[in-house]
Amino acid sequence: MSMGDRLLPPHEALEIILRHVRPLPVERVPLEEAGDRVLAEPLIADQDLPPFPAATMDGFAVIAGDVSPWREIIGEQFAGSQTSVEVTPGTAVRITTGAPLPPGADAVVPVENTELRDDHVVIHQEQVEVGENVRPVGADLRRDQVLVEAGTPIGPAEIGLLASLGKVEVPVFQRPRVSVLSTGDELVDPAQEPGPGQIRDSNRFSLVLAARRAGADVVWSGRGPDDPAALRRLLEERIAASDIVLTSGGVSVGDKDFVKEILDDLGTVHFRRLFMKPGKPLNFATVGDTLVFGLPGNPVSALVGFEVFVNAALRVMAGRRDVQPRPVPVVLTHDVQSGDRLEFQRGLVWADESGVLHARNTGPQASARLLSLVGANAFLLIPPREAPYRAGERVMAVIRGPIGPAPETPAE
Ligand code: AMP
Ligand code: MG
Repeated sequence: MSMGDRLLPPHEALEIILRHVRPLPVERVPLEEAGDRVLAEPLIADQDLPPFPAATMDGFAVIAGDVSPWREIIGEQFAGSQTSVEVTPGTAVRITTGAPLPPGADAVVPVENTELRDDHVVIHQEQVEVGENVRPVGADLRRDQVLVEAGTPIGPAEIGLLASLGKVEVPVFQRPRVSVLSTGDELVDPAQEPGPGQIRDSNRFSLVLAARRAGADVVWSGRGPDDPAALRRLLEERIAASDIVLTSGGVSVGDKDFVKEILDDLGTVHFRRLFMKPGKPLNFATVGDTLVFGLPGNPVSALVGFEVFVNAALRVMAGRRDVQPRPVPVVLTHDVQSGDRLEFQRGLVWADESGVLHARNTGPQASARLLSLVGANAFLLIPPREAPYRAGERVMAVIRGPIGPAPETPAE
């Protein structure tokens, strides 16, 4: 029996995958296109920000220690310019948020603490501290500071920092090119009315979206028959043009399950069966530098396999530092029967007022029931065990979506 025939625990499968995947080369893209890409070099501040002491309130720039009963307004300092008027004892300069502090001034008194009298301002504030309502030079970031580590996805805050520092060309990792191939003679396109024994191909749409969300560039998607010659042609073509090829279906032990034989022939199959549910038949192969994941045909199995394994591979290729989510403990709110393999039950996790995470599954866990994934913000990890897991017991969960309030309806 070859290693590929053993039911491999998911964590071992993941280790094998991670041994065969490397970050893709780096490219430079315009700032406008850098969002959601992965930064390939650390972002280091090459200047202090703000570069000048700036007002944080609308009001008057003054000298903090000035005890004059009222001050003459000698000028205005709006954001976006720099006045040369100097604040001296007995004077103030009208200032707006973000504007540089005029020479001589060391504090800003907010407009709501002042009163205008002709061209004078009276300050209704017991004491004014030096630096009050002023953002000093370098308050937001300091020159030479590492702001964002390489391997971080560029989100709204990160792209804002890039823009603040004038990084109009951003080094990012290339996006993995992914092809998605559904296999099965029973499949028809969603627009078609299925004939006897036929079903609509749903995996293609699920996997294309999952791959896109994981940062992939989905270069192709299509459907193939249960015919070895046709499948082989399609696979060869897609492997040549992709960093990752995802197939669904044709990996079990049926007479028409050809994917594993073809992959064996084209490259190296590293494993084909996993100690997990759903998703026992899952082929992982390499052909040259291309990774091929032969995902199971059942829609839930395909998506769980994607999230657990393909996601990690995509993240490594895309240069991400955070490759795997860390499971967290959750408290079951109902009994759960375990199976004969590590089960990834689709679950709903919520937090109570004290921060404890509670969980329930999403009803029947059949691997064809896509509905079990709808509204599932977690996978509940249920290892095999004689006795059922009881309500109140703790299990580990992989969080896959935002945690909201407790559900209003009881578990099914
Ligand atoms: P297979 O792995 O090819 O034996 O398929 C397992 C189950 O998943 C069968 O019931 C298939 O009809 C179903 N299936 C396979 N591919 C798809 C697909 N692309 N979309 C929806 N269901 C599928
Ligand atoms: Mg099939």
